[in-house]
Amino acid sequence: MLEFIDSQLAHWPLARDNYQALGRSERRSIQLGDLTVGIQHNPARIVSTAAKTDAKSIAERPCFLCSKNRPPLQVGIEITEGWELLLNPYPIFPTHFTIVCKTHAPQEGFPLDMVCMSEKLPGHTVFFNGKHAGASCPDHLHCQAVKTHELPLMRLIENKHTLKYGRKATPDTLCLDTPFAFVSLIITPDLEGMSELAGIESTIGTEYIKHGRFNAFVWIDSGGLLRICIVRRAAHRPSCYGSEVGQHLISPGCIDMAGVLITPLKKDYDTLTEEEVRSIYKECSVKLF
Ligand SMILES: [Zn+2]
Repeated sequence: MLEFIDSQLAHWPLARDNYQALGRSERRSIQLGDLTVGIQHNPARIVSTAAKTDAKSIAERPCFLCSKNRPPLQVGIEITEGWELLLNPYPIFPTHFTIVCKTHAPQEGFPLDMVCMSEKLPGHTVFFNGKHAGASCPDHLHCQAVKTHELPLMRLIENKHTLKYGRKATPDTLCLDTPFAFVSLIITPDLEGMSELAGIESTIGTEYIKHGRFNAFVWIDSGGLLRICIVRRAAHRPSCYGSEVGQHLISPGCIDMAGVLITPLKKDYDTLTEEEVRSIYKECSVKLF
């Protein structure tokens, strides 16, 4: 995988420039109960944060995840049948992949192929933004992957959710103080684990699946166990969304919900308060799972 990244950075100036710029991005952190939240100032991410995701705008632009419309210098490698791994040219972390379905299909359901992807990418978390939960390209089925240790929520879950709490846990059952609810699953390699995986859509909830209001994370933990975390969403974007005075250009997807809030605008990076971050999480999520 390192060879693939190096080769893309050597041959693709847009990606090289953005990965170099990432090294200069500012970051600060705030503590919200048990979750340490990083705030990252990342100007290049404005393409995603400010993406118009209404049906009319989507219909009027060429799909940037279809192979025929991708930049000629962006190379894809098949990671599992029907899915191609690409280097994300607008990174949030030094390793940031987009994993796209080879056919143009809408961002719907819960792709069970994420399990295969996570097995192919040890040390990484594969994640999926429902179409009303932060996805900036809701018309083309895709996932992303970053290193698991970059995501505060995944670190917290691995530390606190052990099998003594059962295969399924929530912040309440783990006695955790987090600004939003989630469900954490340990998918053991046995019949119970497999039936938990088969029933994942009912765990997420029919309405949340139907409307694409969830963020899903799948990874193999440091002990080799398969883990899934689901965050249900109440809103695609917070009511403060915008670039005017008093507003914040923040469009939370999986990485934001996992504890790294992306602010393309410096003013948001500089001024966001703990109270505002709590309120953004509160509006975008559900309180109980
Ligand atoms: Zn497409």
